[in-house]
Amino acid sequence: MKETPSLHRRSSRLLRPLLFGYWLGASLLFTLLLSLIDVLERHREVVRAGEQASEVVASSMAVRMPSELRQGLVEAYGTTSGNAGADGLNLLLVVDDEGRVAYSSRPAWRLLPITDPVFSFPETSDPEFRGVVDCFRLNRHDCGLLRSGNIRIATGGLTVVRPVEMASQDLGLPRQRFLVVVNFDAGLIWVNLLEDVLVWLLVSMAVASLLVGFFWLAIATRLLPRMAEEAQMDGLTGLSNRTHFMEQAITLLAAAEESHSSYVFAILDIDHFKRINDTYGHGCGDAALVAVAGVLKAVTRPEDLVCRFGGEEFALLIPAQKEAGCRAMERLRIQLETSSVRYGGHRLSITASIGAVATGDSGYNIDYLYTVADRALYQAKQEGRNRVVWFGGEANSRLRLSP
Ligand code: GH3
Ligand code: MG
Ligand code: MG
Repeated sequence: MKETPSLHRRSSRLLRPLLFGYWLGASLLFTLLLSLIDVLERHREVVRAGEQASEVVASSMAVRMPSELRQGLVEAYGTTSGNAGADGLNLLLVVDDEGRVAYSSRPAWRLLPITDPVFSFPETSDPEFRGVVDCFRLNRHDCGLLRSGNIRIATGGLTVVRPVEMASQDLGLPRQRFLVVVNFDAGLIWVNLLEDVLVWLLVSMAVASLLVGFFWLAIATRLLPRMAEEAQMDGLTGLSNRTHFMEQAITLLAAAEESHSSYVFAILDIDHFKRINDTYGHGCGDAALVAVAGVLKAVTRPEDLVCRFGGEEFALLIPAQKEAGCRAMERLRIQLETSSVRYGGHRLSITASIGAVATGDSGYNIDYLYTVADRALYQAKQEGRNRVVWFGGEANSRLRLSP
C-alpha cells in the first residue's frame, strides 16, 4: 500500500510544534538540573573551605603558644586572600564556652561576647550564625557542641560551625572546649553563575537536539509510515478504505483517460446482510465481511484496486475491457456463492449483487462511475439479487448456480 504524502506532510506539520516544545522543555529542564548541580557543587566547595579553616584553627589550638600568637594566626588566616581556601571568608571566630570571642579574624572584636550587636551585620544573618548567637543568648549549656548542618544555601551568608577540643592547657585560657565559627560570603556561590548557566544551556540544547533528532527519526521512519498505512486501511477487513481508494482511483483514471485504456468499476453489496446480523449476531456479520474481503483479495490481481466502500459494500476498479470485466465479475460472484462462512458452529452461505460499469460506456469521472454503478446495483437487487448488472444493460449476468 502506497503512503499518501499529504498525510505525511500533515502529520509532520502537527508534530513540529510538539517536538519544538519537547526540545525547549528538555533544554530548560537539563539546564535547570545542571545549574542546580553546579550550585550544590559550589556550596560544597565553600563548606569544604570552611571545614579546612576550622581544621587549621583546631590544629593551632593543639599547639602550646601564647594567645597573642594564636590571635595573630587567626587574623592572618582570615585576611590572606587565597590562603588554604579562605577566599570569600567574612569572619573567623573562636568562641569559648561562655560565648566570648577568644580569637577573631577582626582583632577589634576579640573578647566581645558573640551576642554583642556588633556581630549582627548582613553577612552573619544566615540561620547557622544566628543559631550560635541565639544559643549563647539563651544561656544554653550545650552551645560549645554546636555543629552546622552544611546543607543550607543562604543568600546572606554561609556559616560552618565546628566544636574543637584544646589538647593542653593554654596560656591564660583555662577552658578546653571552643567553637570555631567560619562565616563565608555566600555571594561566592553565585559569582559567574550566569556564564556557567549559559554554558549549561548550550550543552542542554545540544543534548536535547540529539534526543529530538532520534525521536523524529523514529517517528518519520516507523510511526508515520505505520500511521499512514492505518489511515488508508479498513480496520476490519484489511482492505483499502474508501478515501484511499478514491484518491488512487482518481489518479489511475486520469492516466487511463490520457492513454485511452479501459477500466471497469464495480460496487459489490452483500445480499440480505442484515439478516446475518439479526440471526447470528454482529460478530457473525463481521466474520462474513472478513470472508468476503478474503474472496476479493484472492480473485483480484495486484494491479486491481479493491476497497471496503462502507458497511457491507465493496468497490473494485480493474484495468480491463468490458468483456474481460464481465468474466471477472461473474467469476467473483460465483466464487462468493460457492464459498461459505463458518462462525460459532454455523456454516452460512453468502451471495452478493454487483453493479458494474466500464469507462468505455461512461467515461473516466469516478463520481459519475459510482453513480451509475450504484444504479446498476439497485437494479441487480430489484431483479432478485446474486447477479451482476452492467450499466448499459446488455452485458447483464443471469448465470445462476443455485436455483
Ligand atoms: P440488501 O440485500 O438489500 O443489500 O439487504 P441488506 O440487509 O444487505 O442491506 P441493509 O442496508 O438493509 O443492511 C446492511 C446492514 O449492514 C445494516 C448494518 O447494520 C450492517 N452493517 C454495516 N456495517 C457493518 C459492520 O461493520 N459489521 C456488521 N456486522 N454489520 C454491519
Ligand atoms: Mg448496502
Ligand atoms: Mg446488502
